[in-house]
Amino acid sequence: MNWIAIADVISTLAFASALLFVAAIPYKTPKIGKLFKYTLLAAISLYVFVGVSNVLEHAGITAFLDTYEDFAEVLYVPLVAYVLYSRAAAERLVEAQRDEAAIRREHELLMGVVETTPAGILIADEEGGVIFENELAREILGIARPRQLDIARIVRDAPSALPREPIGDGDGRLFVSVRCRPLAPDEHGRRRAVVVLVDVTQRVRNEEELERYGKRLERDIDLRTAELLEANRQLQEAITTREDFFARMSHELRTPLNSIVGFTDVILKGLSGPLTDDQQLQLGMVKSSSRDLLEIVNDLLDIVRVEAGHTSVTLRAVDLTARMRGIAASLGAVAELHGVALTFDGPDGVMVSTDPDKLDQIARNLLSNGLKFTEKGGRVAVTVGESDGFGVVTVADTGIGIAPEDQERVFEAFEQVEAADRSQRYGTGLGLAISRELCDLLGCELAVTSALGEGSTFTLRVPREFAGASGPS
Ligand code: ADP
Repeated sequence: MNWIAIADVISTLAFASALLFVAAIPYKTPKIGKLFKYTLLAAISLYVFVGVSNVLEHAGITAFLDTYEDFAEVLYVPLVAYVLYSRAAAERLVEAQRDEAAIRREHELLMGVVETTPAGILIADEEGGVIFENELAREILGIARPRQLDIARIVRDAPSALPREPIGDGDGRLFVSVRCRPLAPDEHGRRRAVVVLVDVTQRVRNEEELERYGKRLERDIDLRTAELLEANRQLQEAITTREDFFARMSHELRTPLNSIVGFTDVILKGLSGPLTDDQQLQLGMVKSSSRDLLEIVNDLLDIVRVEAGHTSVTLRAVDLTARMRGIAASLGAVAELHGVALTFDGPDGVMVSTDPDKLDQIARNLLSNGLKFTEKGGRVAVTVGESDGFGVVTVADTGIGIAPEDQERVFEAFEQVEAADRSQRYGTGLGLAISRELCDLLGCELAVTSALGEGSTFTLRVPREFAGASGPS
C-alpha cells in the first residue's frame, strides 16, 4: 500500500466518522431539520464513497468505482446547497415557532387582564358589529342594549362625543359610564373602536341617596331654624315682659320705700315730736332696713336691664384717681361704723375713658363688699395706678376671704358663698354680677385674688382709651 492509499484511507475514515456524527444528531422536529440532516448525510456519504473508491484504486485493488466517482463529485455541490438552504429554513422555522409562543403568552396575558378587569371591554365597528367582547361587556350589553347603548353611534363619535353621563336602562336597573378609543379601520375601511363600559349603578344610587339625604337635611335645618327663631322670639318676648315687670315692680316698690325712708327721717329728726330712746333706736333700724331693701330693688332692676342689653353707656374722659378718692371718702362713715380702717393711695390724674356713673357703681360695690366682709379692726385699702394702657383700681381687704373654688362663682348672679358668719351680712348676690356685666360694656376687666381667712383683693382695669363696645348695648 503506498502513501496516497494511506491518505485516502484517513480521509475516508474522517468522512465516515462525520457521517456517524451527523446521523447521531437528534433532528426530530421540525421536518425541515430532518431534511437538513439527511441532505448532509447524503453529501458526506458521497464523499465516503469517493474515499473508498480512491482507496481501492490507489491500493491497486480495483479502479472499478472510479467511473462513478465523478457522479458523486457532481452531485455533492447541489447537495451542499440543499444543506445550506434547509439549515437556513430550519432556523427561520425555529425562530417563527419561538415568536408564536411569545405571541401566545402575550395574548394569554392580555385575555387574563381583559377577562378579569371589572369593566366591560368590547371592540366594535361603526355599524354596531361586535368583533370582540369580554364576559362583563356581554352581560352589560345583554341588559342595556339596544334601548340605551347605541354602540354604532359610540364608535362613530369616538372619541370626541363620549357620553360622559351614566346611561340608565329605563327601568333604572343599570347605569354605565362609557369610554371609547378609536382603532385603525378594518380591511373594508370601516371605523373600529375599543369601547369600555363601567357599571356605575352603585355610584349613581349612592349619589341619589346622598342628594335625597342632603335635601332632607336642608328641610330639617330649615325647620329647626324656624323653630329656633320662634323660640328666640318667645325668649325676647319673655325678657321684655320680665324687664317690664321688674321695671314696674321696682317703681312700685321704690316709691313707698322712699316715702318710708323719708318719713322715718322726718320722725327721727324729731320734726313730728320728741322720741324716746327706744323709738329712736327702732326707727333707725327701720330706716337702715328700708335703705337695704331699696338697694336690693335697685340691684334687681340693674341686672335685668344689663342682661337684656338695655343699659346704655356714655363714655368720657374721667379722672380715675379723683373719682376713687371721692368714693372712698363717701364710704368713710360706713367704714367707721364697721370699725374698719379705709385707706386710699394713688398718684393724681390717672385718666381713663369710661362712663363715670357705671364706674362709680362698680367701685362702690367692690368697696362696700370689702367693708361688709371684713371684721372689726380689719382694713380695706383702695389704690389707683396705671399699667399697659389701663387705669388700675385695687380694693384689698383683710376680711374673711373667698375659697379658690368660689372665686369665679361670685361673679354670677344670685351667687353667694355659703359660710356661717356670712349669713349675718345682707345682700342679694347681684353686686358682682352687675359689676362684671358693666365691665364688659366699658371694656374693663375685673378679677379677684383671695385666700380664705386672709382677705381678698379685687382688681379693676379701666381702659385709658375706649371707643365703646362693638355689640348692641
Ligand atoms: P352680695 O354682696 O350682695 O351678696 P355680690 O355679688 O357683691 O353680692 O357678692 C357675691 C358674694 O361674693 C358675696 O355674697 C360674698 O359671699 C362674696 N364676696 C364678695 N366680695 C367679697 C369680699 N370682699 N370678701 C369676701 N367675700 C366676698
